[in-house]
Amino acid sequence: MARKISILICGLCLVGGCAVNPLTGEEELMFFPEQQDIEIGKGYAPEVEKQLGGRIENDALQNYVDSVGQRVARVSHKPNFDYHFVAVNDKSINAVALPGGYVFITQGMLKKLTSEAQLAGVLAHETAHIVARDVSNAMSKQIGIELLLSQLASRTSSQGAIILADLANQILSLRFSRDDERTADLGGMDYMVRAGYDPMGMVETMQMLEDEHSVRPIEFLSSHPSPDNRIAYLRQRTQTHYFNSRENSIVAREDYQKYVLNQLGD
Ligand SMILES: [Zn+2]
Repeated sequence: MARKISILICGLCLVGGCAVNPLTGEEELMFFPEQQDIEIGKGYAPEVEKQLGGRIENDALQNYVDSVGQRVARVSHKPNFDYHFVAVNDKSINAVALPGGYVFITQGMLKKLTSEAQLAGVLAHETAHIVARDVSNAMSKQIGIELLLSQLASRTSSQGAIILADLANQILSLRFSRDDERTADLGGMDYMVRAGYDPMGMVETMQMLEDEHSVRPIEFLSSHPSPDNRIAYLRQRTQTHYFNSRENSIVAREDYQKYVLNQLGD
């Protein structure tokens, strides 16, 4: 059975194209080249940013969020994308990745975090989705790459702008699979540790998200469905893989307070 499936996938690879997912080491079927990830990310980023309330007008905060993201992205499997980490005004608790290196984190999420390591955990998880091309895959299955690309060409007309806004809205509603989530959790944790952060930051963030979710459904977990035992496997990973790297790792609660929480106010 497995052989039959691999022959089938190989056959499809000849028709479409295969790319190795660096996070799993497995070949995955991709019908479009990585260059299009960049084109779509760049093309839809302004509209997605707008729909998330626009960027927070605070250079100190933006530089801080971007510097944490860049630190993580530089040690990822794809350090050469042009990454952009942007804080947006939206009050929901959310983070969104676009193909090719665009990550948005909401004010609602930023206010719930308490350390730089926790922020690194969220940005590393989103970076892992970009590296694994989960966003491109989800777009391909749930919206259609041809449609996304063709509408970019007609965005200057008023009708084109309306369709573009609708597509950006659909991008914000993309859903990932639980398998993708697990891979992004573990891959993201690896990136944050390589960047020098305490991996417990990611465990704490996931705990916060699940606590919030028990009170009311939160946006992050509707697009990023929580795999079973997420907290347990992440916590276990800190002990089996990173026990020795926690010493002298970065937590940075004071910097987070100074550059984010004090800037956002109540
Ligand atoms: Zn996710």
